[in-house]
Amino acid sequence: MTLLTRTLTGLALAAAIAIVARHARSLSGTGAWAATVIGTLATAAGWRWCVVLLAFFFSSTLLSRWRRAPKEQATRAVVEKGGNRDAWQVLANGGVFALCALGAIVVPSAPWALAGVGALAAATADTWATEVGTAIGGIPRTIFGWVPVPAGTSGAVSWAGTLAMVTGAAFLGTVAAYAGFDWRVGGAVVAGGVAGALADTLLGATLQAGRWCPACLAPTERKVHHCGTVTAHRAGWEFLDNDAVNLTSCVGGAVVALLVGRVT
Ligand SMILES: [Zn+2]
Repeated sequence: MTLLTRTLTGLALAAAIAIVARHARSLSGTGAWAATVIGTLATAAGWRWCVVLLAFFFSSTLLSRWRRAPKEQATRAVVEKGGNRDAWQVLANGGVFALCALGAIVVPSAPWALAGVGALAAATADTWATEVGTAIGGIPRTIFGWVPVPAGTSGAVSWAGTLAMVTGAAFLGTVAAYAGFDWRVGGAVVAGGVAGALADTLLGATLQAGRWCPACLAPTERKVHHCGTVTAHRAGWEFLDNDAVNLTSCVGGAVVALLVGRVT
Protein backbone atom coordinates (compact mmCIF):
# COMPACT_ATOMS: atom_id res chain seq x y z
CA MET A 1 0.00 0.00 0.00
CA THR A 2 1.37 3.43 -0.85
CA LEU A 3 1.81 6.22 1.68
CA LEU A 4 -1.18 8.08 0.23
CA THR A 5 -3.52 5.06 0.45
CA ARG A 6 -2.37 4.30 4.01
CA THR A 7 -2.90 7.93 5.03
CA LEU A 8 -6.44 8.02 3.61
CA THR A 9 -7.32 4.61 5.08
CA GLY A 10 -5.89 5.74 8.43
CA LEU A 11 -7.90 8.96 8.31
CA ALA A 12 -11.14 7.06 7.66
CA LEU A 13 -10.42 4.46 10.36
CA ALA A 14 -9.28 7.02 12.97
CA ALA A 15 -12.23 9.34 12.30
CA ALA A 16 -14.71 6.44 12.60
CA ILE A 17 -13.22 5.29 15.93
CA ALA A 18 -13.04 8.87 17.25
CA ILE A 19 -16.71 9.49 16.39
CA VAL A 20 -17.77 6.30 18.24
CA ALA A 21 -15.57 7.23 21.23
CA ARG A 22 -17.06 10.74 21.22
CA HIS A 23 -20.58 9.35 21.36
CA ALA A 24 -19.57 6.89 24.10
CA ARG A 25 -18.26 9.87 26.13
CA SER A 26 -14.69 8.47 26.12
CA LEU A 27 -13.44 11.54 24.21
CA SER A 28 -14.57 15.16 24.19
CA GLY A 29 -15.05 17.01 20.86
CA THR A 30 -11.49 18.39 20.85
CA GLY A 31 -10.21 15.02 22.07
CA ALA A 32 -11.82 13.32 19.06
CA TRP A 33 -10.04 15.71 16.66
CA ALA A 34 -6.67 15.12 18.35
CA ALA A 35 -7.21 11.33 18.29
CA THR A 36 -8.05 11.47 14.56
CA VAL A 37 -4.78 13.29 13.78
CA ILE A 38 -2.73 10.83 15.88
CA GLY A 39 -4.47 7.79 14.34
CA THR A 40 -3.92 9.09 10.81
CA LEU A 41 -0.18 9.73 11.42
CA ALA A 42 0.25 6.28 13.01
CA THR A 43 -1.39 4.44 10.09
CA ALA A 44 0.55 6.52 7.55
CA ALA A 45 3.76 5.40 9.30
CA GLY A 46 2.75 1.74 8.90
CA TRP A 47 0.23 -0.84 10.10
CA ARG A 48 2.37 -1.89 13.08
CA TRP A 49 2.18 1.70 14.36
CA CYS A 50 -1.58 1.57 13.93
CA VAL A 51 -1.82 -1.77 15.80
CA VAL A 52 0.08 -0.55 18.89
CA LEU A 53 -2.01 2.63 18.97
CA LEU A 54 -5.23 0.59 18.82
CA ALA A 55 -3.91 -1.65 21.63
CA PHE A 56 -3.28 1.42 23.80
CA PHE A 57 -6.58 3.07 22.91
CA PHE A 58 -8.91 0.08 23.34
CA SER A 59 -7.26 -1.25 26.51
CA SER A 60 -7.30 2.21 28.12
CA THR A 61 -10.88 2.90 27.06
CA LEU A 62 -12.11 -0.46 28.37
CA LEU A 63 -10.29 0.00 31.68
CA SER A 64 -11.66 3.55 32.12
CA ARG A 65 -15.20 2.32 31.52
CA TRP A 66 -14.74 -0.49 34.05
CA ARG A 67 -16.49 0.66 37.29
CA ARG A 68 -16.59 4.17 35.80
CA ALA A 69 -19.36 5.55 38.06
CA PRO A 70 -17.82 4.52 41.43
CA LYS A 71 -14.39 5.70 40.24
CA GLU A 72 -15.73 9.13 39.23
CA GLN A 73 -17.57 9.33 42.54
CA ALA A 74 -14.44 8.44 44.51
CA THR A 75 -12.05 10.77 42.66
CA ARG A 76 -14.21 13.75 41.69
CA ALA A 77 -13.02 15.88 44.62
CA VAL A 78 -9.41 15.40 43.56
CA VAL A 79 -8.91 14.84 39.83
CA GLU A 80 -8.94 17.72 37.39
CA LYS A 81 -10.68 15.93 34.52
CA GLY A 82 -13.02 12.96 34.22
CA GLY A 83 -13.14 10.08 31.72
CA ASN A 84 -14.21 12.36 28.85
CA ARG A 85 -10.67 12.94 27.50
CA ASP A 86 -10.00 16.35 25.92
CA ALA A 87 -7.35 17.30 23.32
CA TRP A 88 -4.69 18.16 25.94
CA GLN A 89 -5.09 14.78 27.61
CA VAL A 90 -4.98 12.97 24.25
CA LEU A 91 -1.89 14.92 23.12
CA ALA A 92 -0.17 14.46 26.51
CA ASN A 93 -0.51 10.68 26.09
CA GLY A 94 -0.20 10.26 22.30
CA GLY A 95 1.66 13.38 21.10
CA VAL A 96 5.22 12.04 21.42
CA PHE A 97 4.16 8.79 19.71
CA ALA A 98 2.54 10.75 16.85
CA LEU A 99 5.61 12.97 16.37
CA CYS A 100 7.82 9.86 16.18
CA ALA A 101 5.41 8.32 13.63
CA LEU A 102 5.74 11.52 11.58
CA GLY A 103 9.52 11.29 11.95
CA ALA A 104 9.47 7.69 10.69
CA ILE A 105 7.54 8.82 7.59
CA VAL A 106 9.80 11.78 6.79
CA VAL A 107 13.22 10.29 7.70
CA PRO A 108 12.83 6.47 7.94
CA SER A 109 15.16 5.15 10.65
CA ALA A 110 14.98 2.54 13.43
CA PRO A 111 15.17 4.78 16.54
CA TRP A 112 11.76 6.34 15.80
CA ALA A 113 10.08 3.04 16.67
CA LEU A 114 11.93 2.72 19.99
CA ALA A 115 11.13 6.29 21.03
CA GLY A 116 7.54 6.35 19.76
CA VAL A 117 6.44 2.98 21.10
CA GLY A 118 8.39 3.61 24.32
CA ALA A 119 6.39 6.81 24.84
CA LEU A 120 3.14 4.97 24.16
CA ALA A 121 4.16 2.20 26.60
CA ALA A 122 4.59 4.84 29.31
CA ALA A 123 1.12 6.23 28.56
CA THR A 124 -0.32 2.68 28.65
CA ALA A 125 1.41 1.78 31.94
CA ASP A 126 0.30 5.02 33.58
CA THR A 127 -3.31 4.76 32.35
CA TRP A 128 -3.64 1.10 33.40
CA ALA A 129 -2.18 1.95 36.83
CA THR A 130 -4.61 4.84 37.35
CA GLU A 131 -7.71 3.00 36.10
CA VAL A 132 -7.05 -0.29 37.93
CA GLY A 133 -5.73 1.44 41.04
CA THR A 134 -8.80 3.66 41.43
CA ALA A 135 -11.14 0.74 40.62
CA ILE A 136 -9.84 -1.92 43.03
CA GLY A 137 -6.71 -0.52 44.68
CA GLY A 138 -8.46 0.62 47.85
CA ILE A 139 -6.98 3.66 49.60
CA PRO A 140 -3.70 4.68 47.88
CA ARG A 141 -0.65 5.80 49.82
CA THR A 142 2.01 8.41 49.10
CA ILE A 143 5.29 6.90 47.90
CA PHE A 144 7.21 9.07 50.38
CA GLY A 145 5.95 8.43 53.92
CA TRP A 146 3.32 5.82 53.00
CA VAL A 147 0.49 8.13 54.14
CA PRO A 148 -3.08 7.19 53.08
CA VAL A 149 -4.58 9.82 50.72
CA PRO A 150 -7.85 10.20 48.74
CA ALA A 151 -8.25 8.04 45.59
CA GLY A 152 -7.02 9.84 42.47
CA THR A 153 -4.23 11.75 44.24
CA SER A 154 -1.19 12.10 41.95
CA GLY A 155 1.96 10.42 43.22
CA ALA A 156 0.03 7.96 45.38
CA VAL A 157 0.27 4.23 44.75
CA SER A 158 -1.53 0.96 45.51
CA TRP A 159 -0.44 -2.64 44.98
CA ALA A 160 -3.15 -3.23 42.37
CA GLY A 161 -2.19 -0.07 40.50
CA THR A 162 1.53 -0.92 40.54
CA LEU A 163 0.88 -4.44 39.23
CA ALA A 164 -1.35 -2.97 36.51
CA MET A 165 1.41 -0.52 35.58
CA VAL A 166 3.95 -3.30 34.92
CA THR A 167 1.32 -5.42 33.16
CA GLY A 168 0.32 -2.47 30.93
CA ALA A 169 3.93 -1.90 29.84
CA ALA A 170 4.42 -5.65 29.21
CA PHE A 171 1.16 -5.78 27.24
CA LEU A 172 2.22 -2.97 24.91
CA GLY A 173 5.72 -4.43 24.43
CA THR A 174 4.21 -7.82 23.53
CA VAL A 175 1.74 -6.27 21.07
CA ALA A 176 4.61 -4.26 19.51
CA ALA A 177 6.72 -7.40 19.05
CA TYR A 178 3.85 -9.35 17.43
CA ALA A 179 2.76 -6.35 15.33
CA GLY A 180 6.07 -6.41 13.46
CA PHE A 181 8.45 -4.35 15.57
CA ASP A 182 10.98 -6.96 16.71
CA TRP A 183 11.39 -8.40 20.22
CA ARG A 184 14.34 -6.09 20.88
CA VAL A 185 11.99 -3.14 20.42
CA GLY A 186 9.29 -4.93 22.44
CA GLY A 187 11.64 -5.50 25.38
CA ALA A 188 13.04 -1.97 25.30
CA VAL A 189 9.60 -0.36 25.32
CA VAL A 190 8.57 -2.42 28.38
CA ALA A 191 11.55 -0.87 30.20
CA GLY A 192 10.62 2.57 28.84
CA GLY A 193 6.99 2.12 29.86
CA VAL A 194 7.80 1.19 33.45
CA ALA A 195 10.41 3.96 33.76
CA GLY A 196 8.05 6.57 32.31
CA ALA A 197 5.18 5.58 34.61
CA LEU A 198 7.54 5.64 37.61
CA ALA A 199 8.65 9.15 36.57
CA ASP A 200 4.96 10.11 36.45
CA THR A 201 4.46 8.89 40.03
CA LEU A 202 7.62 10.60 41.30
CA LEU A 203 6.70 13.92 39.66
CA GLY A 204 3.15 13.56 40.96
CA ALA A 205 4.55 13.16 44.47
CA THR A 206 6.99 16.06 44.23
CA LEU A 207 6.81 18.87 41.65
CA GLN A 208 3.25 18.51 40.28
CA ALA A 209 0.95 21.40 41.13
CA GLY A 210 -1.16 20.79 44.22
CA ARG A 211 -4.20 22.95 44.99
CA TRP A 212 -6.38 23.58 48.03
CA CYS A 213 -10.11 24.21 48.43
CA PRO A 214 -10.59 26.89 51.11
CA ALA A 215 -14.26 25.94 51.57
CA CYS A 216 -13.83 22.16 52.03
CA LEU A 217 -10.33 22.48 53.57
CA ALA A 218 -9.26 19.68 51.23
CA PRO A 219 -6.38 19.08 48.80
CA THR A 220 -7.31 18.82 45.10
CA GLU A 221 -5.91 19.13 41.56
CA ARG A 222 -8.98 20.96 40.28
CA LYS A 223 -8.89 24.71 39.56
CA VAL A 224 -12.56 24.89 40.49
CA HIS A 225 -13.52 22.40 43.19
CA HIS A 226 -16.58 20.13 42.81
CA CYS A 227 -18.23 22.30 45.49
CA GLY A 228 -17.94 25.31 43.11
CA THR A 229 -15.18 27.14 45.00
CA VAL A 230 -12.13 28.46 43.12
CA THR A 231 -9.11 26.66 44.57
CA ALA A 232 -5.69 28.11 45.43
CA HIS A 233 -2.25 26.91 44.30
CA ARG A 234 -0.58 25.34 47.32
CA ALA A 235 2.37 23.14 46.38
CA GLY A 236 4.63 22.21 43.47
CA TRP A 237 5.04 24.06 40.17
CA GLU A 238 1.80 25.73 39.17
CA PHE A 239 2.20 25.03 35.40
CA LEU A 240 3.01 21.35 36.00
CA ASP A 241 -0.53 19.96 35.88
CA ASN A 242 -1.51 16.36 35.23
CA ASP A 243 -1.25 16.73 31.43
CA ALA A 244 2.26 18.21 31.68
CA VAL A 245 3.29 15.34 33.96
CA ASN A 246 1.87 12.76 31.51
CA LEU A 247 3.78 14.40 28.65
CA THR A 248 7.00 14.31 30.68
CA SER A 249 6.36 10.66 31.49
CA CYS A 250 6.04 9.87 27.75
CA VAL A 251 9.31 11.69 26.99
CA GLY A 252 10.93 9.64 29.79
CA GLY A 253 9.53 6.43 28.27
CA ALA A 254 10.91 7.39 24.86
CA VAL A 255 14.39 8.19 26.20
CA VAL A 256 14.67 5.01 28.32
CA ALA A 257 13.42 2.79 25.46
CA LEU A 258 16.00 4.40 23.14
CA LEU A 259 18.83 3.84 25.64
CA VAL A 260 17.83 0.23 26.39
CA GLY A 261 17.20 -0.55 22.71
CA ARG A 262 20.58 0.79 21.71
CA VAL A 263 22.62 -1.25 24.19
CA THR A 264 20.72 -4.54 23.76
ZN1 LIG B 1 -14.55 22.49 47.92
